[in-house]
This record gives sequence, C-alpha cells and structure tokens, in this order.
Amino acid sequence: MTGEILVPDRSGVNEHYWLALDARHLVFQECLSCDKPRLPPRTECPHCLSDAWEWRRASGAAKLISWVVYQTAFHPAFADRLPYTVAVVELIEGPRLISNIVEVDDPETLMIDQDLELVIQHERGTAITRFRPFVRGSSNTHNGVVN
Ligand SMILES: [Zn+2]
Repeated sequence: MTGEILVPDRSGVNEHYWLALDARHLVFQECLSCDKPRLPPRTECPHCLSDAWEWRRASGAAKLISWVVYQTAFHPAFADRLPYTVAVVELIEGPRLISNIVEVDDPETLMIDQDLELVIQHERGTAITRFRPFVRGSSNTHNGVVN
C-alpha cells in the first residue's frame, strides 16, 4: 500500500465522461437502439449490444438506493475522512453508480429513496462525483439542476 489513489482510465470511451466531469457535468450514455441509459461508459449496450449511443447530461438529481458506513479505512488514502458513506445512487435518468454521500452529520438519518443532489469535488486533480442530501428550498449552490 502506497497511499496512492487509483487514477481513472481516461482513454477511449471514457475520455468524454472525464472531460465533461472536469467541466462540472455528469454525463451518461443512452442507447439509440433500446433507449436504455447506462454508466459507466462502454462501447456496447449491455441490454441489446448495440454500439449506437449518445451522451446525455445528468440533471444531478438522484435518490439513495443503499449504503454502507465505513468506520475503518480500507485504503490509507481514506483514513482522514472516517466515517465515510459508500452508496448506490440512482440518477433520476436511470443509471446507477457507486458514490459517496457527503455533508451528512449523522449517517443514521439516511433513508432509502432519499432525494440526493450531485456534488462534483476535485481531489488531486481528479473530478469526483459525490452526492449530498437534497434539501428543498436550500440556498446551496447546485452543481446539477434540481427542481
Ligand atoms: Zn440498447
């Protein structure tokens, strides 16, 4: 263990995803054959194997599907952020991704189907998608568009 965080693969089909994230937009692919959205990026649809797709920009609105609160860091790079929450999040557009829930004082307050909003944070030069509880009418600056 060196304390280094794995650097994401920014080549090929992944390139646009990361460039968009650098520009503070989360994008996903939508199959032009069966219309199913997907993440992470891949060249063929996992449902119908079509290689025809387009990028779509996510609104930033999502909901919490499931989560685990880590009290022990399984990588030295994460030791200073304990406890941290690793969650499965579903974008309102459909794709699911594994992410972190941030800005939660008490993880006991998290609920299934809770409304979340995207937060794009930068760590060591890499843009990272995280989510925080969506508070209706809050004055938070949204990185995604949440209505
Ligand atoms: Zn498809």
